[in-house]
Amino acid sequence: MVGKRILNYQIISLLGEGGMGSVYKAYDLQLERYVAIKIIKPKLLKDPIFVERFRIEAKNQAKLNHPNIVTVYGFIETREATGFVMEYVDGSTISQLITTYGRLDLIYSLRVLQQVLLAIDYAHSMGFVHRDLKPSNIIIDRNGIAKIMDFGISKSLNENQRITRVGFNIGTIHYMSPEQIKGLEPSPQTDIYSLGITLYEMLSGSPPFTSKSDYEIYEAHLKMIPGKLSETFPEIPNEVDDLILSALNKSNKKNFLNAYEFRSSIEQLIFNLPLLVSRPSVNQSQTTSISQKKTRSANFIVAFIVLLTVLIIGLSYVLVEKFIIKEKISSSSENESEVNYLSNENYFSAQWQVVTTNIPANLNTIALIGSNIIVGGSNGVVLLSKNNGQSFSRINFNEKVDIHSSTNISGKVLLTTSDGRIFLLDEKGKIIQSIKLIDENLLSTDIKDKIYICGSDGIILKSEKSKLNFEKINSPDKNTLFDIIELDNSSFITCGWNGSVYKTTNDGLNFRESKLSQSYLKKLFFINQFLGFVGGADGNLFKTTDTGESWTKVKINTIATINDIIFVNQKTGYIVTSDGELFISENSGEDWLKVSLNIKSSLNKVLVLNNGLIFLIGNNGLILKNKI
Ligand code: ATP
Ligand code: MG
Repeated sequence: MVGKRILNYQIISLLGEGGMGSVYKAYDLQLERYVAIKIIKPKLLKDPIFVERFRIEAKNQAKLNHPNIVTVYGFIETREATGFVMEYVDGSTISQLITTYGRLDLIYSLRVLQQVLLAIDYAHSMGFVHRDLKPSNIIIDRNGIAKIMDFGISKSLNENQRITRVGFNIGTIHYMSPEQIKGLEPSPQTDIYSLGITLYEMLSGSPPFTSKSDYEIYEAHLKMIPGKLSETFPEIPNEVDDLILSALNKSNKKNFLNAYEFRSSIEQLIFNLPLLVSRPSVNQSQTTSISQKKTRSANFIVAFIVLLTVLIIGLSYVLVEKFIIKEKISSSSENESEVNYLSNENYFSAQWQVVTTNIPANLNTIALIGSNIIVGGSNGVVLLSKNNGQSFSRINFNEKVDIHSSTNISGKVLLTTSDGRIFLLDEKGKIIQSIKLIDENLLSTDIKDKIYICGSDGIILKSEKSKLNFEKINSPDKNTLFDIIELDNSSFITCGWNGSVYKTTNDGLNFRESKLSQSYLKKLFFINQFLGFVGGADGNLFKTTDTGESWTKVKINTIATINDIIFVNQKTGYIVTSDGELFISENSGEDWLKVSLNIKSSLNKVLVLNNGLIFLIGNNGLILKNKI
């Protein structure tokens, strides 16, 4: 087949083979773009029922239009071949990634699943159930976008089911839901089940039920609870086991009714993850120092592998970067909703450098203090660099809490922690003072005229700068407040869990609420008194031009959580996301262009120094450095 021409398609190479046929990369000579063509096995063509099913497959898939679903372009039927033509995805399927890396990173896996669930939720709302979700039917492109393939054997729930019912079991047995095994009608639960199994495989390297005989696998799907991943892998918290059980409909606590519930639970889990991972479990605290050492060295090995993976991926992408950017520009007609790219080479003076930390902590906050740089993270990690960020060393902080924010205050840095304390550190990272303020997770600080701190349970604390004498301020919300910005004397703005921004001009006597989104809002930034931004989960970004009285949505091409927004002047701003994306604006936040980083870890904070050095910090001890 390779080298042949079918209609206007020049067959270039074989991409893979599956149950129904072979998939080829081809070039569409008419539209001048690459496509993938799935060609049905000749032996199956003899079966008219199968051909009919194949036609339905193409028709079904063509009805779905979503960035996380592979687009179907058309159906071909010639004397040589029958098949369908679809979007060519330059990337790797999850099963290929598992084959290469053995296991996938926890946050990475959860983020991929979130994208998949976004598409599945959409498909379910259109009346489609996929029915064959599995690692080989999910492909991740070079920009980290997950796309579902083979909505083939899915069927419209509203459609006459005559053809899809005929004859044989559909789906691959390792991922098959109990209702499929029993021959019952598939429902949205069917896809949720298969994704639960898929998540298990991403995290452990193999699906939960792997007996030799099909019968035993069927029995396991029907009756067995999979083994706990948290017992095998120290970095996986119990909550991940609960999540999988809920997806498999085998949880005593909560089973997911729909894809939306599954996705929300993942979002919540990702948010809580730094706390969950650092929380010592009963078992751990009872183990001997030898096994603690083992766990620790296992953590280091995991961190090392993750870093190595990031490095290898980074390096290999660097090699193809030029090509990818060129192809993006020349094939702009291919996909109108493509991400707009900013060339790394034109914007930054060098390639991104990964600063090795060898610390498996999530790095949450970074600040310049005198001429040193301080980084704070989960599990009491504080890192200090005295050489412009060329290297970081861990300083003796001796506290097992998570550090969430770091803010400069008269030549020192103020850190807030997950157990309600604040720490004042000097330039060398030495603790000068620590104060227990409250039993809440203190998430963000703003220091202008006064000091404002916000956190869990809707907590807001305020103090004079000189005294560190905090009082609790009336709060607009009982849910977590993620960020707070002082506007002037007794005006401030805060945002949080329920997707609202609250503004007060009388220190919390009353608030004006702007409900902007269904998901949480995490980060506020004001360029000047009037112009500000707020960003959060699901790529939500909003802008105000009237000091937070009203907000409008700003377009940015991401569905990940916006973790940080900063502007270094009136025009130039940076945003980083939980999918490892960096966006840059050069026009005061009107347009945001993505920079190709190919990082799979969440990026949490940006720091730009006066000399143009830029640092991005993220999960798994990730520090990236470049110069503007
Ligand atoms: P099944 O027949 O059960 O779906 P499968 O998913 O392993 O099994 P195929 O769907 O035939 O097999 O796909 C085979 C391989 O072809 C995939 O694993 C993937 O690597 C590649 N592939 C399929 N569709 C595309 C596409 N649109 N773009 C790029 N590669 C693709
Ligand atoms: Mg497939």
